[in-house]
Amino acid sequence: MGEVDFMLVNKLASSVGPVFNRSVDILKGMKMPHEGYNVIRNQFYSQVILSKIERTKANNREKVIAICEEDLYLPDEAYILGWSDHLSGTAVVSLYRMRQEFYGLPEDEKKIYPRLFKEAIHQLAHLFDLTECRNPKCVNYFSQMMLDIDNKSDRFCDICRRRLISAV
Ligand SMILES: [Zn+2]
Repeated sequence: MGEVDFMLVNKLASSVGPVFNRSVDILKGMKMPHEGYNVIRNQFYSQVILSKIERTKANNREKVIAICEEDLYLPDEAYILGWSDHLSGTAVVSLYRMRQEFYGLPEDEKKIYPRLFKEAIHQLAHLFDLTECRNPKCVNYFSQMMLDIDNKSDRFCDICRRRLISAV
């Protein structure tokens, strides 16, 4: 959604399918919904994005995840890295704070994809009814800070893996 590096999207699409035992299609890009933009916060309201992508679903079994470069928020949160709604089967992940430039550090392309992958897996796990994990090494661990994402692995712990097998 919006201007996003297609290489990242492509790489993500080919990696997430096997994790959830599903086929993955890359949908046509969309503009960021201007009605979701908050001028004061200079962020996009995540729920508006989920409502927009929900309309692209062909059926209830499909899950849709949007990737964007813009910063996202919820009314009670200063920012969010990702958000999902398991009832509508939709999720969104923002690359905004995954970029080293956000922290005033030099650009580091190598850091972006692993962060995107872990956050996308975490959000998609919600869509398959997994609740957040308390194991800080599990990819399904709730990550508020980038350090949490960097410190966790890109795999599910044994408990989450077993829960996922029964969900998919
Ligand atoms: Zn876990």
